[in-house]
Amino acid sequence: KSKEAKDSKFTIFKPILDREIQENFQIKNNLRHAISKDELFLNYQPIYSVLTEKIIGVEALLRWNYEGNKLIPPSKFIPIAEKSGEIKFIGEWVLRNACKQNVLWQRLGHEPIFVSVNVSVLQLEEPNFYKTVSRVLKETGMEARYLMLEITETILTQNSTKVIEIVKKLNDLGVRLAIDDFGTGYSSLWQLSELNVSKIKIDRVFVDGINKNFNKGKIIKAIISMAKSLNIETIAEGVETVEQFRFLKQNRCNMLQGYLFSKPVAPKKIESMLSKNYGWYPFRKYN
Ligand code: C2E
Ligand code: MG
Ligand code: MG
Ligand code: MG
Repeated sequence: KSKEAKDSKFTIFKPILDREIQENFQIKNNLRHAISKDELFLNYQPIYSVLTEKIIGVEALLRWNYEGNKLIPPSKFIPIAEKSGEIKFIGEWVLRNACKQNVLWQRLGHEPIFVSVNVSVLQLEEPNFYKTVSRVLKETGMEARYLMLEITETILTQNSTKVIEIVKKLNDLGVRLAIDDFGTGYSSLWQLSELNVSKIKIDRVFVDGINKNFNKGKIIKAIISMAKSLNIETIAEGVETVEQFRFLKQNRCNMLQGYLFSKPVAPKKIESMLSKNYGWYPFRKYN
């Protein structure tokens, strides 16, 4: 290639890089005011029980409506919040609002469901994290057994004795624990049993591969049977097709979550789904 071609490649690439650095800087600075400016909100994605064919829980997923007109996805701002330390405040905000919302649904007369909250490693390792959880439960009137905390599998491969200690305290509060994005990390069966994990969420990459990749199907079967032997329930993430639904049901996955059923939606929408939900299951025809 000529020198000219090389140069032109650089002139295209460099401004893009600058823009990204600038954007990250902007995100970091504005994130500090996102809570006080009321720019954060939660959407909830239903999780269905295969056994009862009803919504058994929801996952709270954080959204940031920057300046009231720009929706920034969590994949973009959570890593920045983790680096800046802001995740501590944001995480507590998420926890409190998810609990408040769940209590509200119950007070409206709906059958109790669990709410699942994503927790980042940095939050979990905060020395007073379990005290924060305990305080939020008290303040919101939420029963601990309806709260599930999702931690990613990579946590387990880090400082495992410390993590086991923290998780034991959370277990003592009565809070449930789920391992998120399971199958992509390297946690051991021993850790899963030691941690008193209640559920594992099978990562979307395996669910997505069911119809394309024979081995991914086999891995899902292995995860489900391993989980069963440890008395752990399984949730499949990212269920998008009827084929995936059938496969997971046939292989006795306990719970299903994904766009086939619903995208993450506003609390009002969940409320209406809950009122219509009982005895209603639009997916029975796929059996
Ligand atoms: P996650 O916890 O694994 O959440 C699942 C993600 O998959 C969500 O993306 C959800 O919208 C998406 N999803 C659900 N069903 C489907 C499907 O059928 N197909 C596809 N393609 N995607 C599906 P979202 O909301 O963009 O969140 C991305 C990640 O950001 C989450 O992954 C989680 O790691 C993180 N996150 C979200 N909210 C919070 C939070 O409050 N705190 C922390 N620490 N992390 C959060
Ligand atoms: Mg999650
Ligand atoms: Mg996940
Ligand atoms: Mg994920």
